[in-house]
Amino acid sequence: MKYLLVLGLVLVVFWAWRSARDRRAASLRQADKPAPVPVQTEIVECDLCHLHLPRPDALIGATGTFCSDAHRVQAGREA
Ligand SMILES: [Zn+2]
Repeated sequence: MKYLLVLGLVLVVFWAWRSARDRRAASLRQADKPAPVPVQTEIVECDLCHLHLPRPDALIGATGTFCSDAHRVQAGREA
């Protein structure tokens, strides 16, 4: 009976040591991770050549969205 109590105590100490170690490792892992940078750039399509490009790089014309000034002018002529 005495050995059973000692074994139980050893198991409890081992469990406490392991869970403390796991918690420490998890917090270290989270500290190493860089904060996620939310990058959301809308992708638009050129109405003439169908090239996909980020909206900030696109030219918004009266007749649609274009990848370059040449395509905006060309689409304006064709329309
Ligand atoms: Zn284009």
